[in-house]
Amino acid sequence: MSQSSIVQVAVSGPFLSPLDYVCVESEGVPVVGGRVWVPFRNKKVVGLVMSLNNSTEFEIAKLKKIDQVIDTVPLFTAQQLSLFHWASQYYHEPIGEVVSAVLPKRLRMGEPAKAKGMAHWSLTPLGEQASQDELSKNASRQRAVFEFFKQAKVSNQGYFSATNLSQALKNWQPSVKKLLQMGWLQEREGSCLAQSVYKTSPKHILNEAQQVAVDTVVNELQSISSGFCAYLLEGITGSGKTEVYLGMIEAAITQGKQVLVLVPEIGLTPQMVSRFEAQLRIPVASLHSGLNDTERHCAWHVMRTGQAKVLLGTRSAVFTPFKNLGLCIIDEEHDLSYKQQEGFRYSARDLIVQRAFQEKIPVVLGSATPSLESLHNVNQGRYQHLELKQRAGNASLPSLKLLDIRGEKIQEGVSRPLKIAMQSCLEEGGQILLFLNRRGFAPILMCHKCGWQASCPSCDANMTLHSGQNHDYLQCHHCGEQLAEPECCPSCKSDDSFIKVGQGTERLHETMAAWFPEHSILRIDRDTTRRKGKMAELTGIAQRGEADILIGTQMLAKGHHFPNVTLVGVLDIDQGLFSADYRAAERMAQLIMQVAGRAGRSKKAGEVLIQTHQPDHPLLTTLIREGYDVFAQQALRDRLHANLPPLCYQILVRAEASNPQDVMNFLASLKAGLALNLQKMNKENKDEIQIEFWGPVAAPMLRRQGRYRFQLLLQSAKRQNLHQLLAEMEPYIYKSPLARKVRWSLDVDPLDMM
Ligand code: ADP
Ligand code: ZN
Ligand code: ZN
Repeated sequence: MSQSSIVQVAVSGPFLSPLDYVCVESEGVPVVGGRVWVPFRNKKVVGLVMSLNNSTEFEIAKLKKIDQVIDTVPLFTAQQLSLFHWASQYYHEPIGEVVSAVLPKRLRMGEPAKAKGMAHWSLTPLGEQASQDELSKNASRQRAVFEFFKQAKVSNQGYFSATNLSQALKNWQPSVKKLLQMGWLQEREGSCLAQSVYKTSPKHILNEAQQVAVDTVVNELQSISSGFCAYLLEGITGSGKTEVYLGMIEAAITQGKQVLVLVPEIGLTPQMVSRFEAQLRIPVASLHSGLNDTERHCAWHVMRTGQAKVLLGTRSAVFTPFKNLGLCIIDEEHDLSYKQQEGFRYSARDLIVQRAFQEKIPVVLGSATPSLESLHNVNQGRYQHLELKQRAGNASLPSLKLLDIRGEKIQEGVSRPLKIAMQSCLEEGGQILLFLNRRGFAPILMCHKCGWQASCPSCDANMTLHSGQNHDYLQCHHCGEQLAEPECCPSCKSDDSFIKVGQGTERLHETMAAWFPEHSILRIDRDTTRRKGKMAELTGIAQRGEADILIGTQMLAKGHHFPNVTLVGVLDIDQGLFSADYRAAERMAQLIMQVAGRAGRSKKAGEVLIQTHQPDHPLLTTLIREGYDVFAQQALRDRLHANLPPLCYQILVRAEASNPQDVMNFLASLKAGLALNLQKMNKENKDEIQIEFWGPVAAPMLRRQGRYRFQLLLQSAKRQNLHQLLAEMEPYIYKSPLARKVRWSLDVDPLDMM
């Protein structure tokens, strides 16, 4: 056998390490970081070469042969592969699962690494001759799309990609399809990078705090000894963090480096991409869940080959290969959408820091309301703190007030003082944002005669009543199950006696329409923004001040800039004060500050009214009187005393099955195995390993989608100890017959216990 003829390949499946194959030279020479076709079970699958070796622990004669080499040039550098290894070990996720999570679908299917390019459209000669009048009068979208191409032709621009069109037009997809069918438009494959038409944007002169933040990071970028360094950029809402990122990005680009910018799931809008492009004056690639496979492959390709300098992406973009990455930025670092909540449960925030560490480059974590984890890292001296305490430009901070609604008259969830404030705000021509973090019409449908409540047949949860276009229906927000509203009570058979308990955004909308019939109301929640492009459309309306009252869930709380909003009403936050989840207070505080940040972002001052039955609650009063920072430091001290994260580390083992006994058996045996192992390790080691076990106990929602759910929590003051113990046990879990009867998963650094 020649040297390096053992190829270690990561294939999708529950294998803790790559599988060994042998290579026959006639099938090409595999490269580390490139893909190969390999036989696996009875199929041919795509795998990623993790390393080349000249020995194996298996009998060489029994190893299977590689079928074919796909890439002769690596897709990933050694550094990028080591990030995958790290993620696999840290999250106890099989390496094959990590690899299949990071490869775009097209590449997982074995297509060539070079992307084909995105579709571009232009007018055909027929389209050039045609006139708008030939289109139906009612087809206003078609007319708008057609007019866009006509105008572009006049100014000598030819082809447009999906990205271009999204920047200029709403919901253009069906119209382009129709115009293609009519032969007025033609399609061709273009480059992977959209040829952008940059809008010009006025460049701000940075204020002092902004300049200090930019200079600190840029100095690090430019110093010869530059290496890993983590910064927490804590800037109140509207303080101009984005402007600061742009300053840093410009400096990195000037040095010929590429930049990775992560943003929360719903923070990434075509407007944000345009804002970056307008200022940087180069095309910016983006990666998010709304892209199709071609677009995704394209974005990946332009970053890997260095054709694009900047990538704006959500969670999974953290794995994108770069040619010459020089700076990492993560905006709204506290945001929960950075944690993948199923399958491979990684935290993109922790991974981007690890990536910067491995690549020896700076990383900037930005937020108005940093996570307690990051503030803890600042306290420990691991992160450098950069602060922006003032709003940029002339905007001033809104005033926050608690509305004591004990004993107040409350109609449909809105108290009298809030109603009065709304009236006078509207009279002055202001815009209002009402924040209610519950979609649907009412969270509970109850029988007035017998007390029956509509609950989900497969979950331990109520079904939410929604008012549909034609008739009301019930929906479970945990499993998605939908049922028609019953005609009579399933329990006592009385009809016409249902009462709708509690408020959702739909109900609030109805109430506001009744109270303020002459004003326009816009509801922004998951239900109204389901269609592609809808979110951008609705926030556009809100931004331009075309709606007087905005009603929204947490979707609306983040990142958006609504210059005309002067009054924010926060309706229902009290449950955050009493939740069993110790993180609930932190989340409540972050949400309040984020929502409040939507007010008074331009010339007009803003007011934020927070309805509560707990006006003396210490968490609330600290937050309102002394601000998020004092609140957060207080919350951190509380965590320290209670010995909770980030002052200790946790791994949550979740398991579920239709038979609860199977789940308990599995977790109990796992716990016994872990305890035994711990004893053994402690006999062998000098330093005692201390790990606490909690459970197994029922999950807060015991039954979901018909399965019973239990969990076992492992906790330790030393992260290393937890990982060591679990790594020892892992091979046994995969082999355990008890494990096969349940669905189980490990959640490292869990963010919720649901
Ligand atoms: P953040 O991301 O911190 O909420 P943004 O970067 O979106 O804040 O900035 C808020 C607003 O202030 C934007 O409209 C931006 O154009 C403006 N802005 C930012 N920096 C400056 C500055 N130095 N001078 C004037 N306006 C600024
Ligand atoms: Zn009844
Ligand atoms: Zn359900």
